[in-house]
Amino acid sequence: MSNQSAESRRHRVVVIGSGFGGLFGTQALEKADVEITMIARTTHHLFQPLLYQVATGILSVGDIAPATRLVLRKQKNTQVLLGDVQKIDLEAKTVTSQFLERITVTPYDSLIVAAGAGQSYFGNDHFSEFAPGMKTVDDALELRGRILGAFEQAELSDDPEERARLLTFVVVGAGPTGVELAGQIAELSHRTLSGAFRNIDPRDARVILLDGANDVLPVYGGKLSRKAAEQLEKLGTDIQLGAMVVDVDVDGLVVKDKDGTERRIESQCKVWSAGVQASPLGKQIANQSEAEVDRAGRLMVNPDLSVPGHPDVFVIGDMMSLDNLPGLAQVAMQGGKYAAKQIKAGLQGQKPEDRPPFRYFDKGSMATISRFSAVAKVGKLEISGFVGWVAWLVVHLMYLVGFRSRLSTILSWTVTFLGRGRAQMASTEQWVFARNAMEQLERHERERETSASEPQRKAAG
Ligand SMILES: Cc1cc2nc3c(=O)[nH]c(=O)nc-3n(C[C@H](O)[C@H](O)[C@H](O)COP(=O)(O)OP(=O)(O)OC[C@H]3O[C@@H](n4cnc5c(N)ncnc54)[C@H](O)[C@@H]3O)c2cc1C
Repeated sequence: MSNQSAESRRHRVVVIGSGFGGLFGTQALEKADVEITMIARTTHHLFQPLLYQVATGILSVGDIAPATRLVLRKQKNTQVLLGDVQKIDLEAKTVTSQFLERITVTPYDSLIVAAGAGQSYFGNDHFSEFAPGMKTVDDALELRGRILGAFEQAELSDDPEERARLLTFVVVGAGPTGVELAGQIAELSHRTLSGAFRNIDPRDARVILLDGANDVLPVYGGKLSRKAAEQLEKLGTDIQLGAMVVDVDVDGLVVKDKDGTERRIESQCKVWSAGVQASPLGKQIANQSEAEVDRAGRLMVNPDLSVPGHPDVFVIGDMMSLDNLPGLAQVAMQGGKYAAKQIKAGLQGQKPEDRPPFRYFDKGSMATISRFSAVAKVGKLEISGFVGWVAWLVVHLMYLVGFRSRLSTILSWTVTFLGRGRAQMASTEQWVFARNAMEQLERHERERETSASEPQRKAAG
């Protein structure tokens, strides 16, 4: 490590995460006299809102996940490091990350933590084996393989019961992701795959959208929730509300209805989009500071997004809890830009106690249901149907990173929405089975290590 004095070297900013918060924070520091190290466990910047289109064959991975290193190529004050952050040491002011066997320790003067959130199974993590979530590129590709694989298996089956199970798709969680996914699986089976099989009719596929709440898209409520439900039903989606999932296995799931009765749904392809849990790095920071985490693991930050007692550490985006702000891309982007601004002001001599509080500017939210149909809420304005869909198209194109991604996305959307084709219908067995196989390997490895250390412990005891 260099022994340059703090006065003679540039201010070191470490950014954890290359998602919306991390990337926008880093880009906002482009002209600052700082030295930035961005550390992320993935090599790309992922546009999560369009993951469901990768899962259902509309877009390619490259369209929504450009390489971060290339996005930041011209930003000379920034270095991008691949690594899974294992430890943040608030006292030593270091971040320890790991890639394969290599451990890297990076010191910081200011830290922006934007590690996002993962899927939550509300304490039932074993559900994930059979009902994967959709948070990463790997998740979306696995899901594409599961959806298309179910149709392929149904084509090979002579057993009507088995076929029905294979052609039943269950999406758990009727928030924006669940609604968009259910709508697209319905369109895939009714339009894209229609006529492509000889033994089955893909239009027989049943898409069930389940939620424990009483509304589809409960964050919108009222008219928009009703409109979304109507449009989904028009597509043939079976909406089941007030239904809690109590068990999931390879062949289906068990649901408890409001009156307490339990019933089983036979389904091979289940998707979980019901809850989120913030990165465990939040808890790690809380354990070293006066900060607390909420039930979703989000760190309760100061009004200036800093960690209580640590004005040099900002926690932003899906990882932070402040004023009930939702887990939305805009919250993360604006948080990243705000943190960058405070770092720059600090270099000009602004004291942390003089920072203005973070103010979120709500630009609205939207969800698409099918081609030509979406719901959007901007302030008091509620839009649905075709106008909502056009607004959705424009906003998503605006925020996709890179000209090439925008161009190829427009092309793919034209093919899919005006015609009935989808360009990304490839899938492989590995996409479907790799996650579980890797998890199994890790489990075996852990068990092996535990049993190897057991005799030593006994001998020592
Ligand atoms: C399927 C889906 C659909 C969505 N749709 C919408 C939508 O329509 N509109 C909307 O506004 N929002 C939507 N969201 C939410 C939005 O994507 C998030 O609010 C936003 O991505 C949060 O940004 P972030 O920077 O906090 O985290 P993320 O964008 O999730 O980025 C987290 C980054 O941290 C990295 N990371 C995580 N842990 C570590 C670690 N230990 N070490 C190193 N790196 C790490 C990840 O690799 C990633 O680069 C959607 C989310 C999902 C999953």
